[in-house]
Amino acid sequence: MTHLEVDGVTKVFGDPEKDGVVAVNDLSIDVPDGDFLVLLGPSGCGKTTTLRMIGGLEDPTEGEIRFDGTVVNDIKARNRDVAMVFQDFALYPHMTVRENLGFGLRREDNDMTDGEIDQRVTEVAEMLEIEELLNNKPAQLSGGQQQRVALGRAIIREPRLFLFDEPLANLDAQLRKTMRTEIDELQSQVGITSAYVTHNQEEAMTIADTIAILNDGKLQQLGTPDQVFNEPANLFVAQFVGSPDMNLYSGRVTDSGDDYAIETDDTSFEIPKALVETEIDTSDVLVGFRPQDLYQRAARLTEGPDVDAEVRVVEPVGTEAIVHAESESGDITAKIGGFHDLAAGDSLTFTIAPEHVYLFDAETEELIK
Ligand code: ATP
Repeated sequence: MTHLEVDGVTKVFGDPEKDGVVAVNDLSIDVPDGDFLVLLGPSGCGKTTTLRMIGGLEDPTEGEIRFDGTVVNDIKARNRDVAMVFQDFALYPHMTVRENLGFGLRREDNDMTDGEIDQRVTEVAEMLEIEELLNNKPAQLSGGQQQRVALGRAIIREPRLFLFDEPLANLDAQLRKTMRTEIDELQSQVGITSAYVTHNQEEAMTIADTIAILNDGKLQQLGTPDQVFNEPANLFVAQFVGSPDMNLYSGRVTDSGDDYAIETDDTSFEIPKALVETEIDTSDVLVGFRPQDLYQRAARLTEGPDVDAEVRVVEPVGTEAIVHAESESGDITAKIGGFHDLAAGDSLTFTIAPEHVYLFDAETEELIK
């Protein structure tokens, strides 16, 4: 197992003095032994570049990458003892599954006997339930089976680190879900520190121990899935994580003694100061409601806001429904559980408990509460 540190790492492609592209900007991430780190962010935010620097395929312009406290910046990729899994599987087409799996163990610097290699191949094939496929060539396998072989090739050497770059991107939605559970199980079973790149927040939330959210080469937040969802550091994280998207409205705050009074275009409500950790010294805020936290108000149950809205579309999702409606402040989306008989054109009032209201500074976009 390996303690991975990315310390103050910057990567500039091209000439830093002229028109270089800053792909990664002063990034620091500490990944404890055995942890599953997911690098999450939109296209072009620097995830792959970060992974490639960890793997030794790209040199940092500044900063250090350390494995167990040892700086590896100058160690070549093939000597870092990391295994990488990419989205295109990269299997050798002319080799059988058995040969593909054993290939990494047959490298010159390995003194394993043929018998030992065969035994290890069988062990890994059993772990991944691909024993019956050992004599097949990659072209005879489905996408999911090919990805299992690619995973098998990564774990067979018991590397110091696993690096995954969107390994499920080429699989259909159903298979993605199955495979991500398998990767998660496999990683906890073998306990190898892993870094996994994806732009899919749902995948990140289910698979990660720790998520690093990047935007424009910069770290926005490092935390557990629970932390990035419940305590997003800023507006970017709040909007990137969670589905459906968080509802956001411009608002104003005034101090009213024991409470903060919040006003948006169509509602006003109060948040007890006890619920707000820092003093609010700004008046312009963005008010956020997660669709999961809104409910259809029958009677006044909380001191939270009342938002009158008209239903536009109701999308049933199993036992829940996503309700898209229009309020005076703009569109509002709610995820409503249990029975409901809402239909397009209905008028209703949403409410939300004050502890579930998010406030962001309108200027800095940092989370206030
Ligand atoms: P995606 O999800 O689309 O793969 P990403 O988050 O992995 O994106 P990177 O591939 O790391 O992003 O790219 C980060 C930035 O660096 C982008 O602006 C990209 O255009 C730029 N970049 C990446 N590789 C190179 C390169 N070899 N030369 C020049 N610019 C590059």
